[in-house]
Amino acid sequence: MRFVVCVKQVPDTTEIEVDEETGTIIREGVPSVLNAFDEFALNLAVELKNEVEEDVEIVALSMGPPQAKEALNKCLAIGADRAVLLTDMVFAGADTWATSVTLSRAIKNIGKTDIVFMGQEASDGNTAQVGPEVAAHMGIPQLTFVTEVESVNNSHVVAKKETDEGFVRIKCETPVMIACMPTPGFEPRIPNIREIMKAKKKEYQEWSHEDLGGDPSEYGLDGSESVVIKTYSPPPKGEGIIVDDEPEVAVKKLMDFFEDEGIL
Ligand SMILES: Cc1cc2nc3c(=O)[nH]c(=O)nc-3n(C[C@H](O)[C@H](O)[C@H](O)COP(=O)(O)OP(=O)(O)OC[C@H]3O[C@@H](n4cnc5c(N)ncnc54)[C@H](O)[C@@H]3O)c2cc1C
Repeated sequence: MRFVVCVKQVPDTTEIEVDEETGTIIREGVPSVLNAFDEFALNLAVELKNEVEEDVEIVALSMGPPQAKEALNKCLAIGADRAVLLTDMVFAGADTWATSVTLSRAIKNIGKTDIVFMGQEASDGNTAQVGPEVAAHMGIPQLTFVTEVESVNNSHVVAKKETDEGFVRIKCETPVMIACMPTPGFEPRIPNIREIMKAKKKEYQEWSHEDLGGDPSEYGLDGSESVVIKTYSPPPKGEGIIVDDEPEVAVKKLMDFFEDEGIL
């Protein structure tokens, strides 16, 4: 059996800079971390591997600049068996469409896969679009907002999915894409020194667009359907007003304020 876990390296700061020309985030040299939703997804994959009888290979897959290797090294220490980094200037500036095209071609290259684990969203773009798009490109079913994967065999998976009303348990045919939602109180497992050392011996590959095939114009900024027209920080909000008088006085003050502001 094989699980592919798609992980993104995201800026570990809110102080991000945007390339004025392309409208995309400048990632080189920015302190970065493994996206928390993906760390949860990887932990679910490792737990499931330890529960099932069949042999399971876990492949960590990421598209990003060369520094994203750090995030994959962490995945190997947490429990992935091998890692692939899709790194090539041709991939730069990709929107979610181009990102999902790149990832789904890489998964095809990796080979027969039973579960594609992804995070529900990335903490920088937050579109939550890539998972469902990868499932669509691969023509496989998708389960989103998954908090637990109870079991898997050669044909089906049973998972717990968060809903507005609570939870549902779903049985679904494999291969399947599962977008994972960290549960409250989820504590990521910190790899110990032995696991970190063992990770250094595990297989790590870097692939470019030539390894995936297709035309360079299908990737990155050229292959993106959406174009960032302008990026800017919202203007700072004016100072708020604090009303902490006795209720009667406070109500009067607020009514006067709303009238003055033409709200009422
Ligand atoms: C502020 C901001 C707004 C943006 N808005 C849009 C937009 O409206 N439309 C648009 O098309 N693009 C948008 N982008 C670009 C988008 O961030 C990139 O395309 C990005 O590669 C994927 O989208 P995401 O970060 O929203 O990922 P999500 O869709 O939120 O990520 C879901 C999951 O997909 C997987 N994944 C995502 N990226 C990668 C990767 N590079 N490598 C491996 N796995 C990955 C991870 O498992 C992740 O948890 C935006 C970027 C920023 C920074």
